[in-house]
Amino acid sequence: MRGTLSVPSDRPFQPIPQAPRISHFANEPNPSYGLEPPIPKPRPNAAPKKDRRAGDRSTRKAAPAADCADCPRLANFRHANQQAYPDWHNGPVPAFGRIEASVLIVGLAPGLKGANQTGRPFTGDYAGDLLYRMLQKYGFAQGNYGATASDGLELCNCRITNAVRCVPPENRPTTDEIKTCNGFLRDEIAAMVKLGALLALGQIAHNAILRALDLKRSASPFRHGARYPLGNGLQLFDSYHCSRYNTNTGRLTEEMFEAVIRDLQKHVSGV
Ligand code: SF4
Repeated sequence: MRGTLSVPSDRPFQPIPQAPRISHFANEPNPSYGLEPPIPKPRPNAAPKKDRRAGDRSTRKAAPAADCADCPRLANFRHANQQAYPDWHNGPVPAFGRIEASVLIVGLAPGLKGANQTGRPFTGDYAGDLLYRMLQKYGFAQGNYGATASDGLELCNCRITNAVRCVPPENRPTTDEIKTCNGFLRDEIAAMVKLGALLALGQIAHNAILRALDLKRSASPFRHGARYPLGNGLQLFDSYHCSRYNTNTGRLTEEMFEAVIRDLQKHVSGV
């Protein structure tokens, strides 16, 4: 049983306020800017403009079925884990946090003994220890993180998911698996009508976000600490994944990770 983490006593908990609904349509007033954009004149015979966040190509629902078998290798791995660990979640891990949140954090995939066991993203392994501690410190989470899905922790104006919903062997999804699961990320983004910021944890998550939004990688290459406007009122923040491997090797220090979460918090708070 893991220890319980709580908000550091030297920094009082300050919940992140809910952002106003940001319109991404040109003919609606945008409360965050206080200006009403001009209403475009309709062009005769013009095709309807696509909203990147509306999931025009998507045919999926935001949450996959518990027995989704679109990735045969991952479905086989799931069945093997169901045999070996019948008490574990062993299924696609649903997103955590309210759909009305304005921040979406995207990781790589569930860890075998983390989210795949507990059924909640980043819950039960080292990456979650670090991520949730930082989210608590900067007001994106409240309550105690106890490394189980029933610990009562709540996210504040924040939602967490993964680029790939099922645990992959060796924590390495294939390119095809990342593409196959991308429809769920696309629908997740489309369903978050107040979304204003995305945090990519690692390059695979970064590229999955761009794919879900039909954006080219060349315009926004992954770089730790980078921040890109994506259009439609969205900002993308990049961080190396907060895995034990990255922190043990020094690729990502706690200070580096905290700086990204701090930037995200400032952006959401409008500071
Ligand atoms: S990774 Fe995604 S698409 Fe593939 S089997 Fe799991 S839920 Fe289905």
